[in-house]
Amino acid sequence: MVSFELSARQLEIREKYRDFTQRWIVPNRLKYDELEKFPWEIVKAAYEEGIMNGPIPEKHGGNGYSLFEGALASEELGAGCIGIGICIDANTLALTPLLLAANEEQQKRFFDRIREQKAVAAYCLTEPNAGSDVQGIKSTAIRKGDVYVLNGHKRFITNGEAASFMTVFAQTDPEKGSRSLTALVVPAESPGIEIKPRLRKMGQRASVQNEILFHDVEVPLSNRLGEEGHGFLIAMRTFDRTRTGVAALSVGNARAAYEIAKEWTQNRIQFGKPIAANQAIGFMLADLATHIEAARLITWYAAWAYDNGKKNLSKLSAMSKLFASDVAMRVTTDAVQAMGGDGYSRDFLVEKMMRDAKLCQIYEGTNQIQRLVISKSIMKE
Ligand SMILES: Cc1cc2nc3c(=O)[nH]c(=O)nc-3n(C[C@H](O)[C@H](O)[C@H](O)COP(=O)(O)OP(=O)(O)OC[C@H]3O[C@@H](n4cnc5c(N)ncnc54)[C@H](O)[C@@H]3O)c2cc1C
Repeated sequence: MVSFELSARQLEIREKYRDFTQRWIVPNRLKYDELEKFPWEIVKAAYEEGIMNGPIPEKHGGNGYSLFEGALASEELGAGCIGIGICIDANTLALTPLLLAANEEQQKRFFDRIREQKAVAAYCLTEPNAGSDVQGIKSTAIRKGDVYVLNGHKRFITNGEAASFMTVFAQTDPEKGSRSLTALVVPAESPGIEIKPRLRKMGQRASVQNEILFHDVEVPLSNRLGEEGHGFLIAMRTFDRTRTGVAALSVGNARAAYEIAKEWTQNRIQFGKPIAANQAIGFMLADLATHIEAARLITWYAAWAYDNGKKNLSKLSAMSKLFASDVAMRVTTDAVQAMGGDGYSRDFLVEKMMRDAKLCQIYEGTNQIQRLVISKSIMKE
């Protein structure tokens, strides 16, 4: 028997994030879109109100959410502003390798640190010559006594300049190349870290990205997550967990844009009747509503499958991210179209939502790469 009814706990989680979004994100989203600045006041409030670190175990100060519960939370954040929502969710991205591969002592040390400092972390995978091709990573972490000496160049690092520590992927043995990729936790105060000015970008402007250079940064061996050579697997397993979050943010963004367009087209009169009374626009709204429902369902299904240890998790999480972010792009673009000049104007939110939607088709693996993940998985079946 399948039930689509949310439990009392799930409804409570959704309400808690909806309420936070209304009080903190909605009133500030345009300000941060203009400022292109990390929204520390909102992240601090999110810590105060138990919004941060949803999937971190309760014993380490998180909420102990399942992926399904996390998807409910992220949809609400995305309905307010994906840019601000990703400041919260990118922290989860950076902490997920610790959830997957850190030992008990490391989890305590780093989760305590992040909670006590009300801080955020960054996930450092991408390099100038290793974007989609993660195996092209050239950063090195060479063992010297009881430290690794880290050298390399990362780019597009979300939360980079704001991070208290970074989860960095580097080769420990250049002869073995990508087979030696290893995950290390690097405290931001370590000497030798150079953070470049933030990236100027189209959307999600509350979220900051930086290039980060590591010059002979000494990282204690005790900061290695898992074994040497396990980095690629940790990075990929991380995405299996986090891509449903990007999908849920996209569903929220699409829902919000659709609601604005629905109301506007019902109130705007041309040729003596509401714009929405024209079949061309009515059918457009019908398609958007249908796609949003489908995107939410695939997101919930992928998250549920993960929580319940089902097979093909990479495929399902890739499908959810691919489908939901494509839906958000379509919904926000059509919302702009349905609202004509007002849609394109910065006085209405749908143009921002359209700019924000685009990025979800690119980060955590482009949607071409999601198709690659899905097709490889199909070939194996
Ligand atoms: C705002 C922002 C935030 C980000 N945050 C982070 C972060 O926190 N941490 C992090 O490590 N990275 C982060 N990234 C990096 C992001 O994951 C990469 O940008 C993304 O994976 C694509 O890599 P690339 O930009 O180098 O594009 P490329 O890999 O150069 O790809 C360019 C184009 O070619 C296509 N392509 C590449 N290979 C194939 C193929 N085999 N088949 C078909 N098409 C292909 C891609 O789909 C894309 O359309 C972020 C990026 C952005 C823009």
